[in-house]
Amino acid sequence: MSKTQLNAFRKVLEAKRKELLAGSSDRAEILIENAAEEFDRLQQQMNREVAIRNLDRESKLLKDVQAAMARIEDDTFGICLRCEEEIPEKRLKALPWAAYCVPCQEAIDRQRAAGQPVDEDGGPVELAAA
Ligand SMILES: [Zn+2]
Repeated sequence: MSKTQLNAFRKVLEAKRKELLAGSSDRAEILIENAAEEFDRLQQQMNREVAIRNLDRESKLLKDVQAAMARIEDDTFGICLRCEEEIPEKRLKALPWAAYCVPCQEAIDRQRAAGQPVDEDGGPVELAAA
């Protein structure tokens, strides 16, 4: 991958990271205030659950973004962590923090869905016998 391309991805990742770090609006929802009315309390409870789910998703995404930025520094950006093949540029443009190529991501998703242990940090994962 050329320096120009890497710089472009770095900019996108940096912007995403800033956006995620600044996304504090949901956090306020987590503070439950004493609601006078039962309905308000239920509403707040729901808001809280949604906010927590969003936070989980955002913190995972933030980790992915930061890991991708680290890979740019390490010169391993765009290389699938699992099979060590290049991740197609089209996929990186859609998902600059992608750590895996599509087949590996799908395999990991399948393993996870099946409750099998997944080595997310890379290194060759034993392929399940087909
Ligand atoms: Zn792969």
